[in-house]
Amino acid sequence: MNILDWNQLSESEQTAALRRPALADSGRAGQVADIIDKVRHGGDNTLIELTRNLDKCERSSLQLSEQEIANAASRVSDELKAAIELAITNIDTFHRAQLPTPISQETSPGVQCELHFQPLEKVGLYVPGGTAPLVSTVMMLAIPARLAGCERVVLCSPPPINDAIVYTARRCGVDAIYTLGGAQAVAAMAYGSESITKVDKIFGPGNTWVTEAKRQVSSSVDGAAIDMPAGPSEVLVIADADADADFVAADLLSQAEHGADSQVILVTPSQPLADKVNLALEAQLAQLSRSDIARQALAESRTFICTDLAQAAIISNAYAPEHLIVQTADPRALLPRLKNAGSVFLGAWTPESVGDYASGTNHTLPTYGYSRTYSSLGIADYQRRFTVQELTPAGLQAIGSAVELLAATETLDAHKNAVSLRLAKLEKSTA
Ligand code: NAD
Repeated sequence: MNILDWNQLSESEQTAALRRPALADSGRAGQVADIIDKVRHGGDNTLIELTRNLDKCERSSLQLSEQEIANAASRVSDELKAAIELAITNIDTFHRAQLPTPISQETSPGVQCELHFQPLEKVGLYVPGGTAPLVSTVMMLAIPARLAGCERVVLCSPPPINDAIVYTARRCGVDAIYTLGGAQAVAAMAYGSESITKVDKIFGPGNTWVTEAKRQVSSSVDGAAIDMPAGPSEVLVIADADADADFVAADLLSQAEHGADSQVILVTPSQPLADKVNLALEAQLAQLSRSDIARQALAESRTFICTDLAQAAIISNAYAPEHLIVQTADPRALLPRLKNAGSVFLGAWTPESVGDYASGTNHTLPTYGYSRTYSSLGIADYQRRFTVQELTPAGLQAIGSAVELLAATETLDAHKNAVSLRLAKLEKSTA
C-alpha cells in the first residue's frame, strides 16, 4: 500500500487523501424506474415475466412452498446448522439486550409525558444472490425484526435461492420467502402484488439495481422506507509499533477481497510496522483466491504515518470508517477518542470477521462516511417511537398561561383558544 506521512501533507492534501473514490453513477435510474412502474401495474404476472427474462428462471409461483422450504432445510449439513445456531444465539443475545424501555415522566405536577415503542408492522428483507450465499445477512436482518416484534417479515432473494439461506430464513422466523431479485423484488415489497405483502420498510444490501430501486421507492410517498444509504465496504486499522503485522495485513485483506471498490486504510505512528505490513500483504495476497480483486482495492488504499495514537484517532474520525480495528497495546484506552465508526474491533484477537458472522453485533453498517450520522442496524431500526401526554386540570392550570402566551406570540389564535376555553371552564367550576 502507498505509505504517506500525514504530517507532510497540506490540509487540502489530507482531505484529498481521505476522500473515497467517487460512487459510480449506475446510470440505471431510468431502467429501474421502468421496472418499478411495470411491477406496480402488472403485479405477479410481470414479476414472473421479469424473473424469466432477467434470472432465467421459470416459476408459476414466486413464494416458496412449505415443501420446498423443508426440502432445502434437509440438504443443509448438520455442521453448518450448528454454526448457524451459534451465530443466532449470539446475535439474538446482543439484540435482545437492545430492546428499549418505555419512559413515563411527570414534567410538572399533573403533566405526564411518556415515550412508547412500537414495532414496524411489516418489513421486507433483501438478500443478494450471486456466488456468495449470504446466510449471515439473513440472520443480521431477520433476528432484530423478530425481536422488535414486527408482525410480518418477508424475504426476497434471486433464484436459484440457496438452501442455507432458506433454512436460516425459516429458522429466524421469516414468514414468507420469495424467489425474486433485483429492482423488481424491491418494487414488489414496496408496492405489493397479488402474492407479495406491501411492507413499511426494506432492509438489506444488493447490486446497483437493488440500491437504485431502494433509493427510488424510499422517495415515493406511497413506497417504503429503507434501512440506510449504501456504498462500498471499507475498513480502517489503527496499529501501534508492537502490532502483529500478519494480523493487520489479514484484516486489511479480508476487506479488500470484498470488491475492487472496497477501501482499506492503515494508520500507524510506526514506519517499521507499515513496512512490515506491506511485506505481509504481498505474502498473504499470493495465497488468496480473490487476489486480483484485493490487489485492485489495495491500489486505491493507503497507509498514513502519524505522530501518535491521539492523531490516529483524529484521522479515523475524519474518515468515519464503516469498520474500525484497533490493534494497539491498550486499545480500550483509545475508545473515548473514537467518534465516527460503524463498528469498532478492539485488540489483536478481534478480527472484523467475527463481527461479520458471530460475535453478536450487527454487520449491517453505514459506509461511505455515513457513520457520522447513521448507526449500525439494530432493534431501533425496526421500531418507531411515539410520545403520549396526559394532563390533569391542575396540570393544565400550571402550564396553560405559558402556552397561551407562546401561542399568542406566534399569532396562532386557535392554539391559544384551545387552552383559554378550558382554563375559563376550570375557573368557573371552582368559583
Ligand atoms: P443481487 O441480488 O444484488 O442482484 C441480482 C439481481 O439483479 C437479479 O435478480 C436481476 O434481477 C438483477 N439484474 C441483474 N442484471 C440486470 C439487468 N441487466 N437488468 C435488470 N436487472 C438486472 O445479486 P448480485 O448481482 O450477485 O450482487 C450482489 C451485490 O450485493 C454486490 O453488489 C455486493 O457488493 C452486494 N453486497 C453487499 C453487502 C453489504 O453488506 N454491503 C454484502 C454482500 C453483498
